[in-house]
Amino acid sequence: GAPVSHGALRIEELTFGYDPARPVLHGVEVDIPAGSFTGIVGHTGSGKSTLLSLLLRFYTAQQGRITVDGQPLEAVPDAAFRDAVGLVPQEAFLMAATVRENIAMGRPGITDEAVEAAARDARAHDFITALPQGYDTRLGEGGARVSSGQKQLLAMARALAGAPRILFLDEATSNVDSETEARIGAALAALHGRVTVIAIAHRLSTIRAADQILVLNHGRLQERGRHDEL
Ligand code: ATP
Ligand code: MG
Repeated sequence: GAPVSHGALRIEELTFGYDPARPVLHGVEVDIPAGSFTGIVGHTGSGKSTLLSLLLRFYTAQQGRITVDGQPLEAVPDAAFRDAVGLVPQEAFLMAATVRENIAMGRPGITDEAVEAAARDARAHDFITALPQGYDTRLGEGGARVSSGQKQLLAMARALAGAPRILFLDEATSNVDSETEARIGAALAALHGRVTVIAIAHRLSTIRAADQILVLNHGRLQERGRHDEL
């Protein structure tokens, strides 16, 4: 298999169940061009996170397939796949360490400039510089407190520090203030053309600028369109 060069995804007739006898995704069919922005919405249990898990290769579908840049997802070598994708999880995990160390996590050679560029892209730079010691402020146990939305912005900075071709975001469900929410949406929109973005959203403001929004209903793709078409 070849590395991921563009980050175009195709989901074809995808059917998957954690228990194969009970599918939670049924015949999902989606085209995700490289550099585009796709939002995913749907009620709780509709299969949003499951679809993300399949795109991240955590599971393999029983039927159908996913391709990236025209080749089967499973053909991409592990190291190349890790390099190509970034994940902003629903519940961001912060270490008891500085902001800088939290963003640089797992990337020992990364420069301070690259950390700051990732934080700017994640729209996290302003709140970081407002912290008592800026990028050197300690977080986590006994450290400065950040809101759950700010945690997610830091997780986005961490993901972007890896310069992914494809960025997945599972939006935090808990009380994200509207300013932070708008920042998340603006950060995702600004990646357009550079990074393929796939974002599960609980709030419309996050995916207002999406090229397409997928509406999942009981594991089926019920609707697909832009925000103003749905
Ligand atoms: P939410 O908005 O609550 O995050 P979701 O749309 O992300 O929901 P999924 O987590 O994908 O929904 O769940 C889809 C279905 O699969 C649900 O019926 C759920 O109970 C089931 N499910 C999710 N994860 C697992 C798992 N690890 N093992 C077994 N069943 C699971
Ligand atoms: Mg979910």
